[in-house]
Amino acid sequence: MNRTCPACGAAQGRVLRTMRYALFDDSTLPRRTRITLCQDCGFVYADSEATAQDYLAHYRRNSIYAAAHEVRAGLSPQAQAPLVERAHRFISQLPPSATLVDIGAGSGDFLQVLGGLRPDVRRVALDPDPRCVAALQASGLDARLGSLDDLPASLAGQADAVVLSHVLEHLWSPLEGIAQAAALLKPTGVLYVETPDRQGYGEHPNVPFYYFDPEHINHFAVQDHARLGARAALAMQAQGRSTLTLAGGVTYPVCWALLRRSHTAADAPLPPTDPCSLERHLLEQEDRLRRWLASACQVLAATDSAIIVWGTGSQAQRVLAEGLLDACKVLAFVDSDASKQGRRLAGIPIMAPDQGLALAPLAPVAILAARAASASIRRALAASHPDRQVLALDALAD
Ligand SMILES: [Zn+2]
Repeated sequence: MNRTCPACGAAQGRVLRTMRYALFDDSTLPRRTRITLCQDCGFVYADSEATAQDYLAHYRRNSIYAAAHEVRAGLSPQAQAPLVERAHRFISQLPPSATLVDIGAGSGDFLQVLGGLRPDVRRVALDPDPRCVAALQASGLDARLGSLDDLPASLAGQADAVVLSHVLEHLWSPLEGIAQAAALLKPTGVLYVETPDRQGYGEHPNVPFYYFDPEHINHFAVQDHARLGARAALAMQAQGRSTLTLAGGVTYPVCWALLRRSHTAADAPLPPTDPCSLERHLLEQEDRLRRWLASACQVLAATDSAIIVWGTGSQAQRVLAEGLLDACKVLAFVDSDASKQGRRLAGIPIMAPDQGLALAPLAPVAILAARAASASIRRALAASHPDRQVLALDALAD
């Protein structure tokens, strides 16, 4: 084992499942991870032969939010509602002209929503991706290059609120991440954290093992934020569970917490989280994956021509590792995410969709993506190549 429990520090863990991933040929992430249950606190995390440096190298190279550097002109009401809800969890506590720092601001959606609700708040966006920063600046925000381990010194102790949304699940040490974020707070400031909610995985189904991907190495439940906060001398002020709405109306479970500096000793240890629901979830996913692979192999076997595969995200990475395409001739992968184009997955080149599809005008296109992403692939395919034969692996029942 390379990791101790990221929530409580315990070294004792029980392996629930080994995840396998086909990764980009140049990836520094592990091809196998062990989904591990902490015997002491019930936290769930991915362990492997990889080290903190392997993950650091990965994120230095591929910003978490690299695909989100276009600032959108407007959000759909469906996508906006959870962000308004998020803002209302703490904006009433912000003094006039407060300073708020969003670490990993990505497309800046949340800051745009916040600006509409509290125009007086000084909003600072930090992101490790220069393209994100440029797009955020172009939209009029105070955006700076930075990440948790490289925070601008000028912001230390300056923030009335720090937002750490969908960052902690990526970190080798979420405790260190929380402590680094808290260093930006004024003594009276609040830290808002939000992560996927493992207790909601089963209630918001997607493709099998959707919530387990190479980058999400910490699986939080609502109690875990309090556990981490206490270790970083932060007291829980409020917490809860909610959902986000992704493209195509796909829902995604999240849990959140509002933390404040605390000078009192940590409270009594929190009781462990019930591990049974996640173990049950993993067993269900195992069955769903077997059924899905059997259906997908049938679809592929009925095609005797070489194919193009659209999608190189975590769904492709999971099912390729299960041998899905071993018996197929794949001419190319295509993906509209420019940061993936020019790389290789399982030795096969990844191209821009128009470039890949032009290679073989008659080749069927297999769609390999989770539910939110497949909706946009279908739209793009219908718009630019309406006559192309589609192998709808994204629409298989399992
Ligand atoms: Zn633990």
